[in-house]
Amino acid sequence: MLIEPGYLFSQHSLNTYVRCQRRFLLRYIEHQPWPMPEDEDPLDYQRHLARGRMFHQWLVRRHWGIEMSEIVEACEDSLLRQWWRAVETLFPWDALPDGIREAELPVVVSLGEYRLYARYDYLALDPQNKVAVIVDWKTLASVPSYQVLRERIQTRVYLYTLIAASHVLTGGKSLAPDQVKMLYWFANYPDDVIEIPYSEAAFQQDAHYLQSLVREIGRRPREAFAPTEDSRLCAHCQYRTLCHREVITSAEEDWLDEEIDFALDLQDIPELEY
Ligand code: SF4
Repeated sequence: MLIEPGYLFSQHSLNTYVRCQRRFLLRYIEHQPWPMPEDEDPLDYQRHLARGRMFHQWLVRRHWGIEMSEIVEACEDSLLRQWWRAVETLFPWDALPDGIREAELPVVVSLGEYRLYARYDYLALDPQNKVAVIVDWKTLASVPSYQVLRERIQTRVYLYTLIAASHVLTGGKSLAPDQVKMLYWFANYPDDVIEIPYSEAAFQQDAHYLQSLVREIGRRPREAFAPTEDSRLCAHCQYRTLCHREVITSAEEDWLDEEIDFALDLQDIPELEY
């Protein structure tokens, strides 16, 4: 069997599977390193990736109470400094629930015979009033629609895992789905906050969807992990030489968001089981 019981799925691995099964196989099962073709300059892409990671790291330091002004002023990346000013001044910090605040909080819950991992950029939870908000910092070049974000696997995984783990986080009773929401904030569009509420019906749908999805992946033989039919996805995929998809010019679709989450997960963050 390619995937053993207990395998740890994440929002980015599931999102990768839904977008391209072959990329899931190469990255998450075979751990295949593969450089981009040398005739195409990946530096700009790598710069975007590094900037996104740095922004997340700065926000963790801010959460720890580290004085950031000198670090930010010394940074030569003007876009990163602009994002920082925006999150400091325009993000609705005061509107978040009071009580527990956690940055880069890892959560693992069971999902059928497998496990499901989420790492919230920021969690604000009020255990008294039983409300919680998961914040996700996005450094995307454009703002997806509400519907796209609502259907996004990240949204479904994060809200689902929060409910499944909430009895541990509150130290008592679980939160009800209509007491939590997800808030996406966009560094390039700091006024465009998108909030996604949750409900018991959505929680049940997500439980069913996610369990079906991991069962499908778990039962799949190696040869069934097919390359995507959407060749736009290959434009920024480092496996395109391996997949013989080198001659792709469109750059509309990329993997930057998953890459940032994947890179952050590689950092030394302790894994807490719920
Ligand atoms: S190059 Fe295209 S088909 Fe191959 S793994 Fe990447 S996205 Fe999938």
